[in-house]
Amino acid sequence: MIALNDFRRQWLDIGKDATAAFENTAASGWYILGDEVRSFEQALADCWGLRHAVCVASGLDAIEIALRTLGCGSGDKVLTTPVSAFATTLAIVRLGAIPVFVDTDAHGLIDLQAVEAAVRDDASIRYFVPVHLFGHALDLDKLRDLRRASGIAMVEDCAQSIGATWKGQPTGTAGAIAATSFYPTKNLGAMGDGGALLTDDERLAHTARVLRDYGQTTKYDHSQIGYNSRLDELQAALLSRAGLPRIAGWTKRRRTIAARYLNGIQNENVELLPPSICSESCWHLFPVRIAKDRKREFMKALWAHGVMTGEHYPKAIPDQRAMADCSFEIAACGIEQAREFCGSEVTLPIHPYLTDDEVSIVIDAVNRWRS
Ligand SMILES: *Cc1c(COP(=O)(O)O)cnc(C)c1O
Repeated sequence: MIALNDFRRQWLDIGKDATAAFENTAASGWYILGDEVRSFEQALADCWGLRHAVCVASGLDAIEIALRTLGCGSGDKVLTTPVSAFATTLAIVRLGAIPVFVDTDAHGLIDLQAVEAAVRDDASIRYFVPVHLFGHALDLDKLRDLRRASGIAMVEDCAQSIGATWKGQPTGTAGAIAATSFYPTKNLGAMGDGGALLTDDERLAHTARVLRDYGQTTKYDHSQIGYNSRLDELQAALLSRAGLPRIAGWTKRRRTIAARYLNGIQNENVELLPPSICSESCWHLFPVRIAKDRKREFMKALWAHGVMTGEHYPKAIPDQRAMADCSFEIAACGIEQAREFCGSEVTLPIHPYLTDDEVSIVIDAVNRWRS
């Protein structure tokens, strides 16, 4: 089977570097918040083009701590998208804040025109978590304009967009803070959970560092009610030595595969979703759209050809059962496009260890499908 990820092949490639990283850290005798985390933070910030990185325990924590660092708390309204990993909304809800959902476009990305209208309509909205979904960069110029015009505080969810740019500028550079994830399936994955916040603002970075470590400013001096949310030295060492040196190559490979799919897939029943010409995607995922009632049938047909598929995401977040237990709002634009997207989206395998032959098999399987 051609799977959505292949961590065995990845291990064959990174195993030596990963083992060396683990041995080094194990022998150092220092396992939490030491030199490995510090040097990975510096390398990640340099690679991203932002001044400070603060590593935390997950992408979810990165978004939550970023919002709190910006002053977001109970009762504050936060604009976000109904199509994302549930964690994007969960970070907002865990703070006691109120998600305000804005519709997406036909490609599943949040509609920034609808965001502008929502901010105009409701002056009490002070926070915004845009998501660079699938690895496609949202329009960073529009995000910057929005921030300038409305003063809205923005945390960019870059969990899927490490390496993606808009007109050459990295995602995460339009808002106050970028949040990302090192969940194993992400473009820069650890062997466990992890995440990071990135910012140019030293004061914000300092607050995030305090919050991730029980809210202590110096040892045993607690200035805030914080979290236990720290990236392990082991994961930092792995990311430094095995991940970061490969990320440029991995992204290049994903782009090559995406280009082959975009050129090779020709099936009137399968809608390709190429990103805006200004967005150089890092292709975390490769979504396509299938007529709503044919989605299962398409996924089954690909399975029969040895190709596994995924769904990102099958249900709009406000429609999740857990949301019945918390306050949220839906902006005036509604979320109909988002719901339709969720009903029709299927994800094809795209990861750096797919072979050229496997890419051909996927293209053939898609092209042969007759609904
Ligand atoms: C994976 C993901 C998250 C959550 O990251 P975790 O490390 O799993 O907590 C948040 N937002 C998006 C868009 C993601 O893809």
